Amino acid sequence: MPGQPHHVTVIPGDGVGPEVVRSAQRIIAAAGVAIDWETAEAGAEVFKRGDTSGVPQATRDSIARTRVVLKGPLETPVGFGEKSANVTLRKLFETYANVRPARELPGVPTRYAGEGVDMIIVRENIEDLYAGIEHMQTPDVAQCLKIISRKGSEKIIRYAFELARREGRRKVTCATKANIMKLTEGLFKRVFEELAPEYPEIVAEHLIIDNVAHQMAKDPAQFDVVVTTNLNGDIISDLASGLVGGLGFAPSGNYGDDVAIFEAVHGSAPKYAGKDVINPTALILSSLMLLRHVGETTAAAAIEDAVLVTLEEGRAVTQDLARQTGGDVERAASTTGFTDAIIANLGRQPSSVPPRHGWERPSGEATPRPEGTPRPHWSYGAAVSAAVPRATVGIDLFLESWEPALSAGPALEALAGEALKLEMISSRGTMVYPTTGLSPDNVGLLRARFVAREDGAAVPDEEILALLDRVSSVGARFAWTHIEKLHVFAGEPGYTKAQGQ
Ligand code: NAP
Repeated sequence: MPGQPHHVTVIPGDGVGPEVVRSAQRIIAAAGVAIDWETAEAGAEVFKRGDTSGVPQATRDSIARTRVVLKGPLETPVGFGEKSANVTLRKLFETYANVRPARELPGVPTRYAGEGVDMIIVRENIEDLYAGIEHMQTPDVAQCLKIISRKGSEKIIRYAFELARREGRRKVTCATKANIMKLTEGLFKRVFEELAPEYPEIVAEHLIIDNVAHQMAKDPAQFDVVVTTNLNGDIISDLASGLVGGLGFAPSGNYGDDVAIFEAVHGSAPKYAGKDVINPTALILSSLMLLRHVGETTAAAAIEDAVLVTLEEGRAVTQDLARQTGGDVERAASTTGFTDAIIANLGRQPSSVPPRHGWERPSGEATPRPEGTPRPHWSYGAAVSAAVPRATVGIDLFLESWEPALSAGPALEALAGEALKLEMISSRGTMVYPTTGLSPDNVGLLRARFVAREDGAAVPDEEILALLDRVSSVGARFAWTHIEKLHVFAGEPGYTKAQGQ
């Protein structure tokens, strides 16, 4: 509503956080946007007080109220808690879409200057290896579960297509490692292929993530919107930042159905804390994403123009940019001085690049999402999932054992019982029994696959429990650490073969 201030939670954060956040707040105020800031804390000091989450209840309450956050970087102090407060915040509020634009900026020298690099990396923000489910399987073998869900994939992929449509973008590239991880990354790719026909005006392509890295280094201007899983996205969004000037210029937004959190990609850069020298551009650009999110598109455009004017004129540049341009670092602008220059340039338009009013509709019309409207996603859901025909046809039993496969094989076969048989043993995914003639290393963890003696027959839980009993009875020789059921869903195996099988 015009005239009413927006309510926004601000977390100044650690290290250089308070300085860059103050810079963005001053510019927003100078542009005439009324924001009622609720200051909240998270990060280092909170950990030190013994709150192992790093995000106190008061901060959670504030975010639940305002649903919009401007956040400085948060440190994860070594020895206090084990989870990153950043990741906790993103996950607590299910901000599943991490959006990182990477655009060429005037006055910021890069190897690709003039090529028109202008891409948006849309990274899934909740699932994948960042689910953080890790276990030591033995004293020497660690495991991290890679969780990819249909619903999570659908939410982020639809988000990417909707973003492309809203922004008038022409192409969405899906980046996965589906050639190797056929079930996890493969599910993400399949969902992408299912949804793409709903957006016929947008070119949909799939590239393997390593090729994306290669293509980005070679010809980054070919990318438009890139949607990808969490770890892939973490890596290629930093790569994309590097292409357009580095961490000082890399903004991001974490969007969920209810809450959005805006922050720079960079961390707390502790060596620069309190020195008034850090480049605040990344957080200023993140705050533009915030303004656009709350419908303040005109002010966002004015601030973006002022940032571009300041950068293209180069009269006030921070130390990092002075270093990149070969300028006089001693005479570089302070964070405050650079902020003052942007404020002084409000109302001016850049001359070397067209004004960019990039996050609103091409018409310039603001289209904030109506209050409380969830973003659309139509995962199959519980009822459809429950109706999928299924059978359990065996188990993979993981065993702490240094025993050579040649003797482990017959011993485990002897434990299989009447209904089950040992199909194979693998070490780190490579079959070692029945022997293939090769000798992959044993690292102290074997996987034994047991299936029904009768080809393809279902294996009831009682058989599995009885097998576990028999294996337990031999004690430390085969100490089982976990099991995975082998499912067949709608006739399709829900498990992969071992290498060499
Ligand atoms: P970092 O804080 O991003 O700093 C690494 C280097 O990047 C700095 O030394 C500086 O390089 C450059 N840099 C960072 N911000 C810059 C800016 N605004 N302008 C110009 N250059 C900038 O990474 P880190 O040292 O690995 O992490 C420090 C702490 O931040 C850690 O506790 C980490 O967990 C946390 N962190 C938080 C977030 C977050 O809150 N989202 C993200 C990443 C890391 P030069 O030394 O070359 O000048």
